Amino acid sequence: MNIILFGPPGAGKGTQAKKLVEYYKIPQVATGDILRANLREGTELGLAAKEYMDKGELVPDEVLIGIIKNRLTEADCEKGFILDGYPRTIPQADALGEILVEIEKPIDVVLNFEVPDEDLVERISGRLMCKCGASYHKTFNPPENEGICDACGAEVYQRADDTADAVQNRLDVYKKQTQPLIEYYDETGVLRTIDGTRDINVVFEEIKAILSEFA
Ligand code: ADP
Ligand code: ADP
Ligand code: ZN
Repeated sequence: MNIILFGPPGAGKGTQAKKLVEYYKIPQVATGDILRANLREGTELGLAAKEYMDKGELVPDEVLIGIIKNRLTEADCEKGFILDGYPRTIPQADALGEILVEIEKPIDVVLNFEVPDEDLVERISGRLMCKCGASYHKTFNPPENEGICDACGAEVYQRADDTADAVQNRLDVYKKQTQPLIEYYDETGVLRTIDGTRDINVVFEEIKAILSEFA
């Protein structure tokens, strides 16, 4: 199954991706996680991405397209993948289309998470992250043991770009550069819209029901 999780920052893509990985045993490909791993390891890619990420701007398309091409051709994507945070621009979507034709893995479904801006700001400002990619929320979804990731035991932290200023910019960037992809995918008939305001488990049940059509 080849899935794109689509929606504004804070919509719950990463949270649902983790549950889908466990349920369907296919990998999550989260470009934000890949970039943050590069930042932590101090790679050239990480250093180049940092200035954009700190400001809440998009990292240039050619960087992302390179990342995604390498990642989707790895062996574990053979059975399918969950794209999270990519594509975010029309050129990224065009490049993805070409890569998927080449590896003969068409997108089955694009799940478009809808959540109003005020909720997004509340979610992002309370978000706690783990380096393993798990994400929590101080009130909506706290880890079982305070400050410690349920999945891997590492310490959770607040992302450097989850500040009020950077969040507002990310929402603006989403509207300008990423939102046009809704129409892009709707035209190809793969788009399904999800009400992302409901409980994490309710959202997950709806996603499973949609995906059961494609399994
Ligand atoms: P995204 O990957 O789309 O940026 P996340 O999955 O990281 O979003 O979720 C953003 C924040 O909102 C996190 O703190 C997460 O715990 C919380 N969250 C995710 N889904 C829900 C939900 N359905 N209801 C309330 N809070 C949620
Ligand atoms: P969120 O879901 O909260 O928006 P992500 O973890 O997906 O956060 O992304 C964090 C940052 O990484 C983005 O603000 C952007 O700078 C960069 N980034 C991630 N994915 C992409 C992408 N597909 N294109 C450009 N920049 C990206
Ligand atoms: Zn963890």
